[in-house]
Amino acid sequence: MSTLKITDLHVSVETDQGTKQILRGVDLEINSGETHAIMGPNGSGKSTLAYTIAGHPKYTVESGSITLDGEDVLEMSVDERAKAGLFLAMQYPVEIPGVTVTNFLRTAKTAVDGEAPALRSWIKDVREAMANLKMDPSFSERNVNEGFSGGEKKRHEILQMELLKPKFAVLDETDSGLDVDALKIVSEGVNRAKEATGMGVLLITHYTRILRYIQPQFVHVFVNGKVAEEGGPELADRLENEGYDRYLEIA
Ligand code: ADP
Ligand code: MG
Ligand code: MG
Repeated sequence: MSTLKITDLHVSVETDQGTKQILRGVDLEINSGETHAIMGPNGSGKSTLAYTIAGHPKYTVESGSITLDGEDVLEMSVDERAKAGLFLAMQYPVEIPGVTVTNFLRTAKTAVDGEAPALRSWIKDVREAMANLKMDPSFSERNVNEGFSGGEKKRHEILQMELLKPKFAVLDETDSGLDVDALKIVSEGVNRAKEATGMGVLLITHYTRILRYIQPQFVHVFVNGKVAEEGGPELADRLENEGYDRYLEIA
């Protein structure tokens, strides 16, 4: 069993107008096998939390900690975080010109595992995972994110996740821009990976729609850079009916 623990996390970002405080004391603990949803209005700091976990250089940790099984994640480079078992699916994935999906996946797998995967089983794993996600085999020869549709980007992220087998996956607005069919396929991928590896999931979303397909045990409402309320799945149902207005009045 693994634990990802975030304690009293304060994070700022440098803007043209100076330093801006975004996260103001976030506490969160996720264990293997658990699915936590972070919900909240736009601009509440959800993506900042995801980027901070991933080690994005733009975000400065002012105080607090992130640990993975007691190891200090904030001391780790981006590569070391991936090696330690953290996976982040970005809200805005970048293009990697000249690098095909096949090569990208193999390089990532080799980096995370510390050794190249055995070729035959790897090819089989990639094919299977692509078929599960209803991706055309020709997709593997395309350059990463170049001209990918929104749905293709998301599938590519989930494909990476299924093959890298992280301990914890942070999925930032994986549901945005997906039609219902693509949402189902992507959600099934997440659920399959959960079942296969027992990973913990931090699912960041503005909308409740994806929670019908990926069911969280814990829901955290994020407002103004910290958790304003926590509960079980019933909290997501309430947000679906009432929205975030109530919290914005308090904040
Ligand atoms: P959410 O994902 O909940 O919509 P974000 O974490 O993206 O929220 O943003 C939180 C706040 O921090 C917003 O006001 C946003 O404008 C600001 N912010 C986030 N990243 C940056 C950045 N790189 N530069 C300037 N402001 C930023
Ligand atoms: Mg946003
Ligand atoms: Mg966001």
